[in-house]
Formats: sequence, structure tokens, C-alpha cells
Amino acid sequence: MPADKVILVEGLTKRFGDFTAVDHISFEVSRGEIFGFLGANGAGKTTAMRMLCGLSMPSSGKARVAGFDIYKENEKIKKNIGYMSQKFSLYDDLTVKENMRFYGGIYGKSDVFIKDKTKTILEQLHLTAEGDKLVGSLPLGWKQKLAFSVAIFHEPEIVFLDEPTGGVDPVTRREFWNLIYEASASGITVFVTTHYMDEAEYCKRVSIMVDGRIDALDTPANLKLILGAESMDEVFLKLARKATRVES
Ligand code: ATP
Repeated sequence: MPADKVILVEGLTKRFGDFTAVDHISFEVSRGEIFGFLGANGAGKTTAMRMLCGLSMPSSGKARVAGFDIYKENEKIKKNIGYMSQKFSLYDDLTVKENMRFYGGIYGKSDVFIKDKTKTILEQLHLTAEGDKLVGSLPLGWKQKLAFSVAIFHEPEIVFLDEPTGGVDPVTRREFWNLIYEASASGITVFVTTHYMDEAEYCKRVSIMVDGRIDALDTPANLKLILGAESMDEVFLKLARKATRVES
């Protein structure tokens, strides 16, 4: 695997019975890249992402993530990535600090590392005064930022974000994206699914899935050029219109 490619996917496929949710997708992602993974509801994004995270076995195809094979080394993949799902994984009934201690512990980090990292994150998020509050008492936007910080607490090579900013206003989304940029600048590769086209513009490259296949993959600027579109919204509509899967 070339050193600068942290995700390599070739013909990756997932079938549920005789339904092909992910259909022979192939792509590469470079270290530190912010890679947008777009598609209409039901296109197969979450299914593909779960395979790359070592959470679900593919039906066929190949992939290496952070240098590890997704069939044989999925436990190593889990240790070297961060994952923020749509239902993000913070514990509402633990405080902000307790959540960080918990995740740091899972990844085998030392007490000193956990203490220092917790302090840094709380300062970065301007949440120092909230450290001892229950996560359940925080507004959604703060919870999302916190969930992202927890997902990269152990300094993984790659972080996978599955619709991380659902349900919050554009200003909060923008703040969330500042955290993504900072993570990317520090060398963490960001793989993100989103339904918001303003967010697609923030990605270095974007792939668009239609009915389980990758229909387009390029920089936002090139996608607009190729499809003769003014905006990513227009790009998305032009491609997603072809979808035959209908999901609620
Ligand atoms: P969304 O944006 O709504 O999250 P998505 O692009 O992430 O959509 P997936 O959740 O990956 O789409 O689903 C892709 C297709 O596979 C859908 O038709 C879904 O119903 C189907 N699917 C997902 N998981 C399973 C499963 N465990 N068993 C059967 N079908 C499944």
C-alpha cells in the first residue's frame, strides 16, 4: 500500500440476501485528506463505511484501511480509527470528563495522557466550565463537537464520520467543520458522509453513490465543471435523480 494512501478499496461489495447494498466500489483516500462520501438515503454509504471500519464483513472485494486488511485485521483497524455514528456514542449519564476517561481507557491510554488530552479538548471547545456536567444536559451542537473530539481522542490515523452534523444550524455546522480542518491539518484523514451540500464544498474530494455504486468522484470544483452545475446541490440532484432505490 503506498504510504500516502490510507484507504484503498477495490470492488468492495455487500449483499443482504439477493439485495446488493454496496456494489463493487473502488477508490483511494490519501493521508490527511477530507473525503466526502455522499449519496441519497439508502445509497449504501453506512453499509460501506461499516465495512471499512471493520464492523461488518464484505461479501466480496478488497480493502485496506490504515495499512490493515479488512478481512483479517479488523481488530487492528478498530484500534487505529475513530468512528462517529449517526447516533453518536457518548454516554448521556456520564459527565463530559467521565466520557473522555472512559474512551481513553478503552484505547489503553495512560492517566497522564487522558488528563492532558481532556484539558486540551475542553479548552479547544470552550467547555472547560462544563467538564463536570452530564453530557445529557448539553445542547445538541456541543454534544456533536464533543463526540467528534472523543472519536479522535486516541489520535487515530483516520476518523469516520457518519452524518455528524444532522439537525444543527449552519453556524454550529461551520464550527464543527473547523474542528474537522484542525484534525486534517494534524494529519488525521477524515472520511465523512453528509446530506448537506455546503459541507460537500468543504471536502477535498467527494464521491457520490447511487444505488450502491460510486457514480462520480472528484473535487467539488471538477464535479461542477464536468456536470455543468453551478453548485454541489445541482451536482447531487443531477446524479441522485438517476437513483431507483427509494428510502424514507
Ligand atoms: P442513509 O443516508 O439513509 O443513512 P445510506 O446510504 O447510509 O442511507 P445504507 O444504510 O447503507 O444507506 O443502506 C443501503 C441499503 O441497504 C438500504 O436499502 C438498506 O435498507 C439496506 N440495508 C442496510 N442494512 C441492511 C441489513 N442489515 N439487512 C438488509 N438490508 C439492509
